[in-house]
Amino acid sequence: MDESDIANDCDTPDPKLAKLIATFPRLFHEKAPECYSYVSDGWEKLIHALCTDIDRLLPDADAAVFTVSQIKEKWGSLRFYWSFEGQEATVIDLIVGINVAKLQVPPKHPTDLFNKIRVLVVAAENKSKTTCETCGEPGEMRLLVQDEEAAPKGFFTFDREPIPKGIHGWVGCRCDLHAHRDNRSN
Ligand SMILES: [Zn+2]
Repeated sequence: MDESDIANDCDTPDPKLAKLIATFPRLFHEKAPECYSYVSDGWEKLIHALCTDIDRLLPDADAAVFTVSQIKEKWGSLRFYWSFEGQEATVIDLIVGINVAKLQVPPKHPTDLFNKIRVLVVAAENKSKTTCETCGEPGEMRLLVQDEEAAPKGFFTFDREPIPKGIHGWVGCRCDLHAHRDNRSN
């Protein structure tokens, strides 16, 4: 099975995701996550590093019961949803204005390995908050205002969340270059 087969089988157009699945067969079990997923250009290295760390951590028997259920951006940062031995952390978003605090509630009796995976995932998700989603350079969270003139066709094509009431835009992590209206789609 090559990368294009995986992309076609999973009905996903994202070659970066297909590459990830092919690179880490023990984590993805040669199929795309259950929920629609993609790998942003700027976070490709970050997600690859996270998968490398998890892959090194888990012996074969444990990798067999590890599942990635979704990879996406939400409220401007990376979300990497996973489960281990059928257990998962519950994620709760607390929204205050344009600031979002994310709480991860672990299962009642997490194993040591569960906790180790969780530490790796949380660290990667936190790092995405200072990594430009477009290019991977250092960035910061910004409100990306929706503006027909400022948003070249195709900019708002990702699986983004609805805008909070009263805010006409999206929160996203961008470097100075990609926060500029003319460079958003690069
Ligand atoms: Zn950038």
